[in-house]
Amino acid sequence: MQQMTSRRAFLSARIRQEAGPIARPPGAIDHSFPQLCTRCGDCAEVCPEDVIAIGADGFPRFQPTDDPCTFCGDCAQTCPTDALNIDRLSDWPWRAALKPESCLSMNGVSCRICQDNCEQNAIRFTLLTGGRAEPRLDAALCNGCGICPGLCPADAIALERQPEAQMEALQ
Ligand code: SF4
Ligand code: SF4
Ligand code: SF4
Repeated sequence: MQQMTSRRAFLSARIRQEAGPIARPPGAIDHSFPQLCTRCGDCAEVCPEDVIAIGADGFPRFQPTDDPCTFCGDCAQTCPTDALNIDRLSDWPWRAALKPESCLSMNGVSCRICQDNCEQNAIRFTLLTGGRAEPRLDAALCNGCGICPGLCPADAIALERQPEAQMEALQ
């Protein structure tokens, strides 16, 4: 439990520092989330995959640690306000972003944790010389389930919010 708490805190810091805006649960309204969310915690409570954490400010944040989000929509259906809405579930703007220079495989250390855990098969490796391999992300396959950033031991993946135009191109 202590380990989980530390990991959550670490992931929280990573999302804040590198992705700018905080990832809210699926179906979150864009700009007025803090005004509409009552901080009841119901979305985190109901999530069967335990991918919603409550931040120090009391607001929920999207933070997978051991399992990916399945986009079941339970969080959005449970929300008593319009902070989360099932009709916005397909507008999920977050996707994985690789930093290959940090990847263990790029530095000659064998690792395929992200590939092995991606249910969308969105991450593939290309063999390079010197026993190295480069991870590549197929952005059209990634659904933003959020599990790979938390599993990567080298901090080589982050969740990033995609610009609207880019999201349209992916759909
Ligand atoms: S969509 Fe389902 S799995 Fe994803 S955060 Fe909401 S309740 Fe959890
Ligand atoms: S269920 Fe809705 S109102 Fe309650 S904490 Fe989650 S987003 Fe906020
Ligand atoms: S966030 Fe994307 S790349 Fe990462 S495991 Fe999920 S689907 Fe795969």
